[in-house]
Amino acid sequence: MNAGPFLHDADALSCIHCGLCLSSCPTYLETGDENQSPRGRIYRMRALQDGRMEMDDATIGAVDLCLGCRACEAACPSGVPYGRMLEHTRDAIESRHSRPWPERLLRRVAIEGVFPYPERLELALVPVSVARALGIARWLPGPLRDALALVPERVERVELPRFSPSTATDGGRPRRAGLLSGCAMRVLFGPAHAATVRLLNTAGFDVVVPDDQICCGALHAHGGRLDEARERARENIAAFERAGVDVVVVNSAGCGSTMKEYGELLAGDPAWATRAREFSARVKDLCEVLPIPSHASGTGEPTGRVTYHDACHLAHAQRITRQPRDLVKAVAGTNYVELPEADVCCGSAGTYNLTEPAMAARLQERKTRNILATGARTVVSANPGCLLQLRAGLDAAGATDVEVLHLAEYLDRPTRVTGPR
Ligand code: SF4
Ligand code: SF4
Repeated sequence: MNAGPFLHDADALSCIHCGLCLSSCPTYLETGDENQSPRGRIYRMRALQDGRMEMDDATIGAVDLCLGCRACEAACPSGVPYGRMLEHTRDAIESRHSRPWPERLLRRVAIEGVFPYPERLELALVPVSVARALGIARWLPGPLRDALALVPERVERVELPRFSPSTATDGGRPRRAGLLSGCAMRVLFGPAHAATVRLLNTAGFDVVVPDDQICCGALHAHGGRLDEARERARENIAAFERAGVDVVVVNSAGCGSTMKEYGELLAGDPAWATRAREFSARVKDLCEVLPIPSHASGTGEPTGRVTYHDACHLAHAQRITRQPRDLVKAVAGTNYVELPEADVCCGSAGTYNLTEPAMAARLQERKTRNILATGARTVVSANPGCLLQLRAGLDAAGATDVEVLHLAEYLDRPTRVTGPR
């Protein structure tokens, strides 16, 4: 079947096939197969668009196996917008191809029907707790057991106040930050959210958590559901506009990268294009607005070595690698140790570990080996999916004593960040 045009003309022609992106691609590193490389996938996307290739199992399989990590995009000297091409290709596949029913059930019901809704996500945790309490989790089929292993043993519910005033004492006018509460972050990482609010208050921000915000739409944009992502973008733009914030702060890399791209997502909608562009310009990752801790000792914590894992959508999509390291190093001091292959995907990639569990497990093991090689006692990252994936990988390797922390929790624990930026 000719898929018809779905890529922008300029995007489709931008790859010059130089291959410089190959060594940054996790699926190519693992398989050595050109079909599972950025160059191979771009060739298939173009062939699909031109009608030289069918939407067959090989092509859909290659697109599905892509993590959407965008390491190739960061490595590409020609500026190929791989992330956008992937989203548009996936949108074409989901709208023009019918997947077998078990896959539809997983994608449409279990993933899209649960993850974007915090209340449903909370409900979904109930059978997980029951399975664990009854000790039946280990008897479940492999993929279900692996999915269960991602859920933290203990989930601490934290209700965020709708408004938390600045606690800075420098007398300057507080800036007004809107916080994205998110889905997985809100349900599974309440303490990291609470730490985020404290850090922002100390840094001179009044924090608002609009209760009419919804899931950012990242899951839909990455999964080939662009219209649903656009609808969510419109709702969130309106919600944060009503809240009258100076800056929208996000502590989840995947969500932040999608919200920074609302402008692009709604570029074709005349009623929203300008609002979306202005909104995206106000979106910042937490690490972009925090000052380096001014009174951190920099001599290291007694708890041992600390390392940092780059979330793909922070390092590659948002190109932010220095700020989080500077923040971690300011506290860890000489205990900071760089993680080998820090910016190679851990296999989480949104819900990839549910749709492509075999490759996700290979990348999780690779990441775990690298973490253990550093001798670190603490691993810091800035994305909920990565935190779950790293924790499960370390547990599976018996390294239960290595702690995995969100950047906000790590910064909030030993010191308080002070002073406006
Ligand atoms: S995506 Fe960029 S780096 Fe990769 S082959 Fe194409 S032009 Fe080269
Ligand atoms: S997005 Fe990641 S997995 Fe996909 S082709 Fe690029 S580097 Fe490879």
